[in-house]
Amino acid sequence: MVDSEHFYTRRDEAARLFSQRKQWLLEHFYRHMRVQHRVLVDGAGRPVGGQWNFDQDNRKPWPGAPSEPADCRASHDHSALWQTIVAAGVNSFGEANAARLAWPLDRGEALQQLDAFIENALPHFGDFQDAMSHRSWRMFHSLLSFALNTKMLDPREVVARAEAAWRAGSVSLATAEGFIRQIIGWREYIRGFYWTHMPRHVEQNFSATRGRCRDGSGTNSLCWDFFARNAGKLSTNRRLGMVYRQLAKMDEATRRSLQVQADELRNALDRL
Ligand SMILES: Cc1cc2nc3c(=O)[nH]c(=O)nc-3n(C[C@H](O)[C@H](O)[C@H](O)COP(=O)(O)OP(=O)(O)OC[C@H]3O[C@@H](n4cnc5c(N)ncnc54)[C@H](O)[C@@H]3O)c2cc1C
Repeated sequence: MVDSEHFYTRRDEAARLFSQRKQWLLEHFYRHMRVQHRVLVDGAGRPVGGQWNFDQDNRKPWPGAPSEPADCRASHDHSALWQTIVAAGVNSFGEANAARLAWPLDRGEALQQLDAFIENALPHFGDFQDAMSHRSWRMFHSLLSFALNTKMLDPREVVARAEAAWRAGSVSLATAEGFIRQIIGWREYIRGFYWTHMPRHVEQNFSATRGRCRDGSGTNSLCWDFFARNAGKLSTNRRLGMVYRQLAKMDEATRRSLQVQADELRNALDRL
């Protein structure tokens, strides 16, 4: 097993933590991480502000104000490189947008992006972290996952910056906690879950999804609609074989009804 400096935990750490427990509760993992890494805790290991989680404060709809911060990321023209990749027949998905690639190319650019986030977006991150809107694709999110996943940024420094911003009084505790929870909570927990349960989980997950789709659940309609719309790009993916076999078994009326439900949800995003 190989450890990686771009996560706090070892691959098997979550599995060991949950080995005696019936359920993999994020909150249990998250509190353990806060204490172990001394993040937003006092000298006795208690949460600063008297509570572990400000999730209740993190669910406001975004009415369009405050306005989202300008996107100050550097833009790079990688058209020539992209043409080389396409010419070499490398399989990829999504739009590369190579002529205006906005992701950091080195640690210097990644640090600039971190600075801009802490100053301009973090103050509002907490309030609107769960919001969705047609008017903004980014709102107050950090866009740091690329820099974190490619090891340009260490999660510890990102967390330390968010905590320091709270200690300096420039952001609320609810916002700092909400952001930090994504990094030391979700990011580490999902990784631990992945290494414990994959690939078996893929099959369990798709079976569960199948069951809920039959219930006609709205969010599952979005999921099915996504796979249906992207069949051209995704149906040959080995890991999605079960999804596409399931889709192929659906009759036209079911598919159409899922599509209608998904359209309705998308149109109502700002009101949800
Ligand atoms: C269905 C689904 C699939 C996802 N697939 C990926 C993926 O392939 N690669 C990937 O990096 N992230 C994935 N995420 C997590 C998260 O949505 C993205 O990391 C996030 O959109 C990145 O934007 P950001 O950097 O602005 O995040 P912010 O909202 O600013 O959050 C800060 C950081 O916290 C971490 N984080 C936030 N949310 C999550 C989460 N739900 N799970 C794990 N870590 C999180 C990321 O490192 C992120 O950069 C997925 C989430 C969902 C719900």
